Amino acid sequence: MESTNEAARPRDFIREIIDEDNRTGKHAGRVHTRFPPEPNGYLHIGHAKSICLNFGLALEFGGKCNLRFDDTNPTKEDEEYVQSIEEDVRWLGFEWNEQPFYASDYFPQLYDWAVQLIKAGKAYVCDLNAEEMREHRGTLTAPGKNSPFRDRSVEENLDLFARMKAGEFPDGTRTLRAKVDMASPNLNMRDPVLYRILHATHHRTGDQWCIYPMYDYTHGQSDSIERITHSICTLEFENHRPLYDWFIKELGIYAPQQIEFARLNLTYAMMSKRRLLELVREKHVSGWDDPRMLTIRGLRRRGYTPEAMRSFCERIGVAKFNSTIDMLVLENALRDDLNKRAQRAMAVLRPLKVVITNYLEDQVDELEAINNPEDPTIGTRKVPFAREIYIEQDDFREDPPKGFYRLAPGKEVRLRYAYFITCTEAVKDAAGNVTELRCTYDPATRGGNAPDGRKVQGTIHWVSAKHAARAEVRLYDHLFSKPDPDDVPAGQDYRANLNPNSLELLSNVPVEPFLANAKPGDRFQFERQGYFCVDTKDSAPGKLVFNRSVSLKDSWAKQEKAQQGKPQAKKK
Ligand code: ATP
Ligand code: MG
Repeated sequence: MESTNEAARPRDFIREIIDEDNRTGKHAGRVHTRFPPEPNGYLHIGHAKSICLNFGLALEFGGKCNLRFDDTNPTKEDEEYVQSIEEDVRWLGFEWNEQPFYASDYFPQLYDWAVQLIKAGKAYVCDLNAEEMREHRGTLTAPGKNSPFRDRSVEENLDLFARMKAGEFPDGTRTLRAKVDMASPNLNMRDPVLYRILHATHHRTGDQWCIYPMYDYTHGQSDSIERITHSICTLEFENHRPLYDWFIKELGIYAPQQIEFARLNLTYAMMSKRRLLELVREKHVSGWDDPRMLTIRGLRRRGYTPEAMRSFCERIGVAKFNSTIDMLVLENALRDDLNKRAQRAMAVLRPLKVVITNYLEDQVDELEAINNPEDPTIGTRKVPFAREIYIEQDDFREDPPKGFYRLAPGKEVRLRYAYFITCTEAVKDAAGNVTELRCTYDPATRGGNAPDGRKVQGTIHWVSAKHAARAEVRLYDHLFSKPDPDDVPAGQDYRANLNPNSLELLSNVPVEPFLANAKPGDRFQFERQGYFCVDTKDSAPGKLVFNRSVSLKDSWAKQEKAQQGKPQAKKK
C-alpha cells in the first residue's frame, strides 16, 4: 500500500506522541512498531484494529512494522495458526518488515538474561507450588509474603536453574522468579514468575526446552531485541509496564516505549480467542471461518472486503478509554464499500409464481438492466422476461394494509426494468394459501414507464421462471441475541445468549441467469435484499451458494417494522 499523505492522516493521541517523539528526536526519528499475536487461534476483528494501527503507523511515518509471534505457550500454539495469521494480515493489505519474527527465536537470549538476573541477585529459583504461591501473593489490599526460597545464594540459584533447564524436575515443581517487591501495590511486581517447567513440545523448538519463559518476561525483551520504538498494546497491560521497565533497566538493554490504547469491543460480539475456540469446539458454529464469526476468516467468507475492514478501523479511531462500538458501524463500512463496487442483480428469496396471462407462451424479452448505478463504467446487462416469473411472497397482499404499494388484487405495480403488471387473480390451494398469481402486463410500459404518464407507486424485483439459475442462500443474523453476550442470569454464561436464529437457509432460490457463472468470492447486490457473495467453501461448479454479507440499510422489512402499519414513505 502507498503511504497516506500528511493531510489525510488520522489524528489521535498515539500519532501525537509519535509526532512529538519525532520533533524531539527521541528515537532518532525512527518509527518501528510490531503486531505480536500469540499463534493460539485465528485472528478476529479486534486484532484487525491492532493490525491497522501498527502497520498503518509504519506506512504513515515511513517506518517499519514487524509481525512477531509471541509463542511462549507450547501447549496452546500451533503451526496452523501461524499460517492463518500470516494470510489474514496479508489479506487485510499489509506486509511486514523482513521475515516474521518469533519470540521462540529469543529463547537462548532470554535464558542468558535470566542467568544475568540471577547473578545480579535479581532472580531466584522458588520451590513453592502454584497454590502456595497464590497464598503468598497477597491481595489488592494486603501485601504479599516473601517466599522462603527468596534468599537462596546466587550459586544455588544458578545450579537449580541449570538443572531446571536440563530436565531434572517435573512440571510445576519449581519456577524462576524475579526478586522485585512482595509488598508492591502493583501485583505484577510481587516477584513474578519468569520461567516455568513444562515438558511440552513446542511447534518450532520441538523438545529443545522444558522450561518456558512467561509472557511478561518475554514480551518487553522481544520488543527490545527488535528495537521497537513504539510498543503499542491494549489498556490491560498498563499496569504491566512498570515490570517491563524493571526488566529493561536491570538488564541494561534498549528501552522501547510502551503506549496503551483501548481494545475494540463490539455489540453482539465476543473478542476472546479462548471463547471463539469454545464456539468452534462445541460446534455452535461450523468453524473459525463460519460467516457469523467475527474472525477475519469469518468476515472474509461473509463477504467483507479488506477495504471495508480498514475503513471500519479508521472510523472507530484509537482512544485511551474502553467503549463498545455498535455493530452497525461495522456493517455500514461494508455497505458503503459494496455500494460502490457490487454489481446489481435480482434474486427472489421466497418465490411466488406469477403467470402473465396476456404474454405469449414462447415469447421472451431481453430487457436492459443497469449493472451498478454508482459505477456507469460497468454498463448494462440483458435480463430475460417471460410469461412465468417469480416475485417475493412479501410483495403481494390479498388484503393490503393502507400504504402497501406493492401487488394486490386489482393493483398495478412496476416490475424493475420491465413492465407494469396488474393482478387479476390470486390462485389458492385447499388450505386457502395463495400459490400463484394471475396478472396482465401493459406492453406499452416496456422499460418501466407508461407513455400516458400514469404512475405506479411500487417497484418490485422478479426473475423469469424458466431462465432462472438456482442457488442456496444463507441469511445471517447476530450470533448472540443480546448486545452484551455476557448479560445473563447468575449461573449461566454467554452460551445462554446464542441466537438460535442466526442462520437461515433458503434452498432453490431463483436468481438471474447470469449468476450461474459467478465465481467463489464474487459479490453482488441483490436488489432490495442486501449484499451477497458466493461462498468460497461450499460453492462448486453446478452448486451456487450465496452468503448474505449485510442487508440494505433501507430494507423493506425494517422500514415496515419501524413504521408498524403507517403509510410507507414513497420509494423512488
Ligand atoms: P484474545 O484476548 O482475543 O485472545 P489476545 O490479546 O490474547 O486476544 P494476542 O494474540 O495476544 O491476542 O493479540 C495480538 C495483538 O492484538 C495484541 O497486541 C493485542 O493487544 C491485540 N488485540 C487483541 N485483541 C484486541 C482487541 N479486541 N482490540 C484491539 N487490539 C487487540
Ligand atoms: Mg494476549
